[in-house]
Amino acid sequence: MTTQLPVFERLTVIGCGLIGSSVVRAACAYRAAGHITVADISQTVLDRVTALGIADAVEADFGKAVAEADLVIFATPVLAVADVMASIAPHLKAGATVSDVGSVKGSVSEAMQAAAPAGVHIIPGHPIAGTEQSGPDAGFAELFQDRWTILTPIAARHDDAYALAVARLASFWRVLGAQVEQMDERHHDLVLAVTSHLPHLIAYNIVGTAADLEEVTQAEVMKYSAGGFRDFTRIAASDPTMWRDIFVANREAVLDVLGRFTEDLQALSRAIRWGEAEKLHELFTRTREIRRGVIALGQESPEPNFGRDRGKH
Ligand code: NAP
Repeated sequence: MTTQLPVFERLTVIGCGLIGSSVVRAACAYRAAGHITVADISQTVLDRVTALGIADAVEADFGKAVAEADLVIFATPVLAVADVMASIAPHLKAGATVSDVGSVKGSVSEAMQAAAPAGVHIIPGHPIAGTEQSGPDAGFAELFQDRWTILTPIAARHDDAYALAVARLASFWRVLGAQVEQMDERHHDLVLAVTSHLPHLIAYNIVGTAADLEEVTQAEVMKYSAGGFRDFTRIAASDPTMWRDIFVANREAVLDVLGRFTEDLQALSRAIRWGEAEKLHELFTRTREIRRGVIALGQESPEPNFGRDRGKH
């Protein structure tokens, strides 16, 4: 029997909510790290991590938390990264890798690089996995299984040491169960604006609109939500701080795709007004194919009603 060596000897995760605690749990379960330290701004979170017993050490002092780390991962809301990076920079070990899991890459990468000391490898990252829940209790080791993690290495770094660090970080995510892809950070932000940020904006907006409709009572909105509305409420229940930060940090790309979306919505509105049934049918047929493609790529369950009815019959 062979015992797998950890990819990184010492890992520090800063911010231990849904994603941070999932990284911690997975790194421990699959032996991707030999020793795991958790740091967080919140003493309540640190106490909870201690009670859950998912880390080898918890540390409120970020400098102390990173001093011996080979890999540091930020799992805070994205706008917190600049301050956290500035506070840990003087304490980082030479040769350490510093990464993150933030949903926006361009501005976060800039913030990380601005404060990074020489000899440290900054490799921004983003696991495309999550739920609408938050906090250390919400995480689980299998979260990244068969999901994609996108790494956005710094384009200006061409040296061998950096290439090795990128390869090692990719191995770390693969051990956690993820598939890994590299991407330019601006392209990442555009792709995610379409696949994640715009859908969340639409969900926040539609749930807000329904809640404000005076002719329909709130009780009716909830009672008849199975008609489609409840699927938006799941997305619109996502963490307010995290999403506030995403829209502030990815303003350009979100406004770009929002402009395109608004034009398409206007065209749909015109088709409905003029009774252009074929136009509507053609679009709905095309979108159904996209759904089939998502299922074929293993990114969603093929079960009817998202598998909600499993075990009911
Ligand atoms: P979360 O459950 O709210 O966890 C964030 C944690 O960071 C909380 O414990 C929070 O403490 C802590 N924190 C906040 N500010 C901090 C600071 N300045 N220093 C240290 N810790 C701080 O959020 P999450 O869903 O795990 O999201 C974390 C990151 O993952 C975000 O950047 C997000 O964009 C990214 N992400 C999220 C998802 C998803 O589906 N949720 C998916 C992929 C990537 P408090 O609770 O006390 O504020």
